[in-house]
Amino acid sequence: MYYIDPHIHMVSRTTDDYETLAKMGCVAMSEPAFWAGFDRGSVDGFRDYFRQLTTFEPKRAGWYHMHHFTWMCINAKEAENVKLSREVIAMMPEFLDLPGVLGIGEIGLNKNTKNESIVFLEHLDLAAKRGEQILIHTPHLEDKFKGTSMIVDMLCDDRRLDRSRVLVDHVEEHTIRMVLEEGFWAGMTLYPVSKCTPERAVDMVELYGPERLMVNSAGDWGPSKPTAVPDFIMAMRRRGHPESLIRKIVYDNPLEFFSRSRNFNFTPPEGVGSASVK
Ligand SMILES: [Zn+2]
Repeated sequence: MYYIDPHIHMVSRTTDDYETLAKMGCVAMSEPAFWAGFDRGSVDGFRDYFRQLTTFEPKRAGWYHMHHFTWMCINAKEAENVKLSREVIAMMPEFLDLPGVLGIGEIGLNKNTKNESIVFLEHLDLAAKRGEQILIHTPHLEDKFKGTSMIVDMLCDDRRLDRSRVLVDHVEEHTIRMVLEEGFWAGMTLYPVSKCTPERAVDMVELYGPERLMVNSAGDWGPSKPTAVPDFIMAMRRRGHPESLIRKIVYDNPLEFFSRSRNFNFTPPEGVGSASVK
């Protein structure tokens, strides 16, 4: 089955991983900007990272006939430095009109601090002014419920935002409902150490249905599995779910969401769909 991974950090992966993803049926991926494992020292560090995301990663994906899309931001882990965050937000428009840049992300909260909220709101303001799509990171483990509530409140407070153009990622059993009920898209991240397993993701599909729901692998520099979406496909099949339902979650939904971005240009693989989606 062809699929799209809507949240995977390919800068952390080898070219062999790109090849494996292509062999597994991955036809496109989207890569939000994230934390490098250390705090970058200057706005130029981010500019170089954004150049990597918009030039080299699409090229590597293209070697295996996959489409690579990306999102720009400064991650919540670096938001304690509000001065640097503002410099990065001011620089981001250099990249937001480039082909394959879908919007602003992954923004959000990490430890739910005041500075993180300030920087999150300033990203939202830029997105609203420019009409950008938004991809959101929600905190891990003990900070998740409170952080997701804070994020949903801040999003709902901004009347300028179109909720059908916002994806809230890393939802789990205790946060998925508030995201879907407010009209946002929800992403389930399949992760070997925290977040969600393929089986728990299938449980959530059974509880909430497939509308505005996606799955992703995160595939970052930590313990993670870039082929987690095919694991989800297998788990859905083991439960007896039809191929059409699986395809909706791993292919049709990301395509529908990404299609709302002006820089999304995608040619489906032969035999899937008829025209290129713009
Ligand atoms: Zn991420």
